[in-house]
This record gives sequence, structure tokens and C-alpha cells, in this order.
Amino acid sequence: MNLKIAQALVLNELNKHNLNEYTFEFSRAKRTKGQCWYIQKVIKLSKSYVELNSFQVVYNTILHEIAHALTYKKYNVLGHNRIWKKVCYEIGCNGERVNKDAINEYNYFYKCQKCGHIIGTYRKLKNVGNKFHKNCGSEGRIIKVEREG
Ligand SMILES: [Zn+2]
Ligand SMILES: [Zn+2]
Repeated sequence: MNLKIAQALVLNELNKHNLNEYTFEFSRAKRTKGQCWYIQKVIKLSKSYVELNSFQVVYNTILHEIAHALTYKKYNVLGHNRIWKKVCYEIGCNGERVNKDAINEYNYFYKCQKCGHIIGTYRKLKNVGNKFHKNCGSEGRIIKVEREG
């Protein structure tokens, strides 16, 4: 997803939920999708995570972090508990542990040289140079995406 749009979405959600004391930053984290720094009042999103994932996936992560900030502000509660989950549902986040901040969806990312389709894997692909995106055939050679951080 586009970085500028992601940033605008976070600022919009912060404003909508009266969390104007919070600021937003992109992080260079690899394995952490998003973070809510309760004390410093900062919401962070991993730049590479945003770049490599869809709008829906990133938006859900944004709401996940907003829910942390709100839960702390309203109930003085930290973490992924029942109250946090309730707040998640109220603001439209699925509240799934799958979206846990500390775990990235995939460890490796590859893309099709022809159409740019991104493929995520848990294990490193062997013989990357000899793999092709099946929708694109012989022009769709799979190449590794290097991530920052
Ligand atoms: Zn969380
Ligand atoms: Zn392709």
C-alpha cells in the first residue's frame, strides 16, 4: 500500500478518536508491523510492511494500534486482552491475534518481474531464478524483494 495514504489514514483515525496527543512515524522494523508507544504517544508502522501489504491488511493493523491507544487512554489497560478486543470491534478492527504486532505475515517476499505480483513465504525459496509466476508464464520470472531495516 502507498505510504502517503497509510500516513493519512493514521492521522485521520487519530483525529477521529480524539487522540491528537499522538504523532505518527514510519519505523524500519522488519518483524514488527505496528507499534503503539503509550508513554511517548507515538503510533509506528513498519515501512516495509506497509509497502508490501494491501490496503485492507494495513488498515486493519492501523486500527489495531489505534485500539491500543484508546484502550490505554480510556481504561488504562495495556495489551491484547478482552477490553482491547471490545475496543477493536467498536472501531471496526477484527481484533485478531493473527494481527499481533510482533509477528510479520511472512519472512520472505518475492515478486513477479512482469506484473509485480507479490508473493510472501515463510521459508526462503530455492532456485528463485528458475521460478515463474504461473499467470504470467515464461516472462514472469520471480525475483526477491529486498526489504529495508
Ligand atoms: Zn497489539
Ligand atoms: Zn505475474
